[in-house]
Amino acid sequence: MQKLTANKKYLFFGLLALLFALIIFVAIRAVPKEITISEYETLLSQNLISDAVLDENRVLLSVGHSRYYVLKDSIDMRELGKRVAISVKSGFSTELILFIGLVLGLFFYSLYSRRKKPATHQTSTELSSLVGAEAITPTISNVLFKDVAGIDEVKSELMEIVDFLKNPRKYREFGVKLPRGVLMIGPPGVGKTLVAKAVAGEAGVPFFYQSGASFVQIYVGMGAKRVRELFAKAKSFAPSIIFIDEIDAVGKARGGGRNDEREATLNQLLTEMDGFNDSSGIIVIAATNKIEMIDEALLRSGRFDRRVFLALPDLNDRKDILKSYLASKKHEVDIDALARHTTGFSGAGLATLVNEAAINAIREKRVLISDDDFKAVFSKVLHGKRKIGALNEAEKQLQALYKAAKALCAEWFGVEFERISLLEERFIDYDHEIKSKSEIIAKIKVLLAGREAMKIYQNELYSNCASDVALARELAHKAVSEYAMSKNLLASEADVLEILESAQAQVAEFISNMQAQLEAISEFLAQNESISRAEVANIIKAKYEQH
Ligand code: ADP
Repeated sequence: MQKLTANKKYLFFGLLALLFALIIFVAIRAVPKEITISEYETLLSQNLISDAVLDENRVLLSVGHSRYYVLKDSIDMRELGKRVAISVKSGFSTELILFIGLVLGLFFYSLYSRRKKPATHQTSTELSSLVGAEAITPTISNVLFKDVAGIDEVKSELMEIVDFLKNPRKYREFGVKLPRGVLMIGPPGVGKTLVAKAVAGEAGVPFFYQSGASFVQIYVGMGAKRVRELFAKAKSFAPSIIFIDEIDAVGKARGGGRNDEREATLNQLLTEMDGFNDSSGIIVIAATNKIEMIDEALLRSGRFDRRVFLALPDLNDRKDILKSYLASKKHEVDIDALARHTTGFSGAGLATLVNEAAINAIREKRVLISDDDFKAVFSKVLHGKRKIGALNEAEKQLQALYKAAKALCAEWFGVEFERISLLEERFIDYDHEIKSKSEIIAKIKVLLAGREAMKIYQNELYSNCASDVALARELAHKAVSEYAMSKNLLASEADVLEILESAQAQVAEFISNMQAQLEAISEFLAQNESISRAEVANIIKAKYEQH
């Protein structure tokens, strides 16, 4: 009797969940809006339609996040078909069937696993073979290097890989060893996936896409199996490219909390990468935005030993990207000015911006996209929900001063660098065996310079300095504990502090005596976004001669 009531309870909650899911489903499904033929034609000519579905006598169109429809007989379906693939709506929405199936599945699964407690593990594997059963299939990429704007260095670095994929035999005959894995490091949206696809497109080889998260989100034991299947498939299609997005989901440095599933997946990945020989014609490209999180084992020789860094696009790259996105659209936009206003935008951010501006023009029934459209969506993109991350004018000025102090200090105290930009700084790290204490202290000074400049000229501290202090502290600690550079033979924390404080005092004095130079460099940075060592030296010299 009691069992019956328990079953009824399950049924009740199951149905409730189903009802709830249905309500949500109906609520979130956007109702398409009818548009006129001329609106439709503008959308079509501006290449803004991303998807078309034939629903009896209507054609549903997806444009960005909005959905519209036109009557089928009022448009030229063949013309539409040339631009986008048209699919036909099935009688009953597939999304709906999937949704109901999933809810019912989960409901019965919970019912089943509660009844048979000891068998939970087994049940979850059974379920996983249903959920993770999506077949691994390659795609043929039609992206070419010319579709990737800017980042010329990255492209030329990857040219070699393209050549290898085109002629693996040539490399085999000459016994040349090539990297098996390329790790692409950079913030989201800078085009890591796009470049990987372009490598496949240029070489004309199949492209296997997997996201790192998909390996570990499926159920116990499935990650490793999936890795095995992926490599087996890629081998059968060789030469080919495997692309693993967000590899940190699998290859996160071990230690701390153990995660057996992830470790099993990682080990399988390592085994596969060691297993294929140089001539098998497979290249594994992986992407991450945090290299410091990657397990050392993945970086060891013979695995991902080629690294490619992708930064946020600089001024020129932004111009190129904007040009390429505006090329297929009618516009009267000052691309130069727009590029200057979008510091900090990624390629993906710029693509969204252009698209939103085009939609804005159409909404206001204009044929040409103008600067005003960008102004209108800028604030929405910046302040609305879809924040893309850019520096506003005030932030840009602050960042310029902060970086200028570092550039000035680096040039003055002889810390080598090629360029320092608003968003990035790359100092040249000499790996010589014997380091001097003054060399280390000079580096600490550079690290602290930005923070001191903020204190002196802005009378304020900002969050962008946080990592500087941590890095400076790390260096000082290394000097004291590893290289025995403290005054006292047996070093303590007090010696670390002493090094930091004396460097800080010297930097503060230096920065306060260099106001003219600092301002000039800061202005240069705000204008051009980056500065070379030679340009810093020129400014210092020019200011010196003025006195
Ligand atoms: P990531 O993999 O680095 O997160 P993606 O390659 O997925 O970035 O980029 C997302 C989208 O942003 C691309 O599909 C493309 O539309 C746009 N994009 C990013 N970088 C560029 C670029 N350099 N040139 C052209 N488009 C770009």
